[in-house]
Amino acid sequence: MHASLLDLLACPDCRDSLELAAAETEGGDIVTGTLACRGCGRTHPVVGGIPRFVAMENYATSFGYQWNRFRGEQIDAANGTRLSEDRLYGETGWRREWLPGRWILDVGCGAGRFLEVVSREKCRAVGVDLSRAVDAARLTLKDRGNVDLVQASIEALPFKPGAFDLCYCIGVIQHTPSPRRSLAALPAMVKSGGRLAVTIYERRRWTTLNAKYLVRPITRRMNKRALLLAIQALMPLLFPLTEVLFRLPLAGRLFAFAIPVANYVGEARLSIGQRYRWAVLDTFDMLSPEYDRPQTESEAAEALARGGLAGIVRRQAAGLTLAGIKP
Ligand SMILES: [Zn+2]
Repeated sequence: MHASLLDLLACPDCRDSLELAAAETEGGDIVTGTLACRGCGRTHPVVGGIPRFVAMENYATSFGYQWNRFRGEQIDAANGTRLSEDRLYGETGWRREWLPGRWILDVGCGAGRFLEVVSREKCRAVGVDLSRAVDAARLTLKDRGNVDLVQASIEALPFKPGAFDLCYCIGVIQHTPSPRRSLAALPAMVKSGGRLAVTIYERRRWTTLNAKYLVRPITRRMNKRALLLAIQALMPLLFPLTEVLFRLPLAGRLFAFAIPVANYVGEARLSIGQRYRWAVLDTFDMLSPEYDRPQTESEAAEALARGGLAGIVRRQAAGLTLAGIKP
């Protein structure tokens, strides 16, 4: 972590400022140390260059396993596509020129696919994740001097209120125990006039009939490595099968609903080899998380408004994307 991050950090328990002690630095980067709260005295370690405000292992462990295992797969700079870039700007509705000179917060950064996009600009980017995916992101973004990573919970974000100009949270909220509490916690991170954009899974009347919700009670309890091995073992059968079924006119969408395999048959920007690996990755991503709690548009908008967001609009995107401004 950079020493300047200390100005933004706050105790997740009492919101007082933090003091750094017993630090070991490496080229201006704080690699290990202890952050002590000036108010309540609680301490939090800096390990591997990342301040840790939660236990290393927790309900998001599947994501830590997943993103350390598939670290570079969805990183534009590593896979030669612009998928993450297009998705970030498409879903947030932000423009590239808004970023320079700004502080940007990525909530639930995973392996850092969107951090890699924003950190191309002359801004300061902070990625926070509950899981050890932060270690994968740090490794991938080690040459980006404008990125910091923090391991913390969305329900107890360790930042001063209004610390950020822009905040986004893409594909994360439904994987928390209380999506509405998580949503309500986000607007406080943004300063007056700042912007927040959130993409979550939408719940409609038929959503929970999706086959993934039938198998998840079993798969989410499986050992993560065993589940990944099972998916890898079945994919040589499931991939060619879904290649045919998901492309069928009309019936294709039904099959995609009834077979819990993530094969993006319509994604022409990926090679077939990439699509195969993404099928393994995203099938694991949908079957392994502890929580998968999609929300309706009104539930999500209400929670954001309760958190203090104004001017909330729904944007055209694959999922439920809401964006607003802090008054
Ligand atoms: Zn404190």
